[in-house]
Amino acid sequence: MALPKAKKHWGQNFLVDASMQEKIVRLAALKGTETVVEIGPGTGALTKRLCAQAKQVLAYEIDGSLVERLQHDLQVDNLNLIHGDVLKRDLDEDLRTLDKNIDKAILVANLPYYITTPILFKVLEQSRLITTLILMMQDEVALRLTARKETKDYNALSVAIQYRTHVHYAFKVPKTVFRPMPQVDSAMLTLEVKDHRLLKEEDESFFFDLIKQSFAQRRKTLSNNLTQNYPIDKESLKPFYQERNLPTDVRAEALSLEDFCALTQYVLKLWPH
Ligand code: SAM
Repeated sequence: MALPKAKKHWGQNFLVDASMQEKIVRLAALKGTETVVEIGPGTGALTKRLCAQAKQVLAYEIDGSLVERLQHDLQVDNLNLIHGDVLKRDLDEDLRTLDKNIDKAILVANLPYYITTPILFKVLEQSRLITTLILMMQDEVALRLTARKETKDYNALSVAIQYRTHVHYAFKVPKTVFRPMPQVDSAMLTLEVKDHRLLKEEDESFFFDLIKQSFAQRRKTLSNNLTQNYPIDKESLKPFYQERNLPTDVRAEALSLEDFCALTQYVLKLWPH
């Protein structure tokens, strides 16, 4: 069947290469017992393979014409298709409506790029059931999410994602496997939500703010970024640097996830609020 005319505003780039579709679904290592959530099934490139290999698939598609097409093309009884904007849905409620005994789910998606970060944060902040995420995104974003300290891609988003998940860059996906062909290459990432978090839940919102402020002006020292944004002075940060074996003119990019967690606790002691 011919591909529909792609709607750019909904990030429609259809994956047309069958061996790449297979390779992506293989990453999920499905055994027939899983519940899979798919965001943006499009024309069903991944959906039909997911339905064949999982117990059930819950898919969200915003484009009504694609929903109709999928309903016509994919006559399988383990697909639940929801027509709507995934960002407006309560994923865990939808999963429990589908299966009241559900205890976990896997997200597999070739994401609409314009909402990659909002989707990631929505899933990580709001879903307790989705514990594995297998996602296609722009290569540049994938490199940022998996970046280690002291590299140019390492930023607040890398630290935030690595705080919540074990993230792994699986492979690059060349732009030539999509129609229409996007401007840039993509990549597959796998993210496993961590059972154990390094900070107490009540300190997390400050941690997320602190990493954002720490990287606010990359070329500035960490002390400059922090003292500009919080009511603390440079002198009071010195014992922290000493404790963590960091120079006093250190920049945010040299701090590991563990350093940022320790810094969160340290700043909260200086400035309880
Ligand atoms: N999965 C298909 C594939 O791999 O060929 C299509 C992927 S395409 C990159 C992204 C899909 O997400 C499109 O089908 C688009 O209509 C859908 N989409 C975009 N925004 C959405 C939203 N807010 N909620 C649900 N689906 C959305």
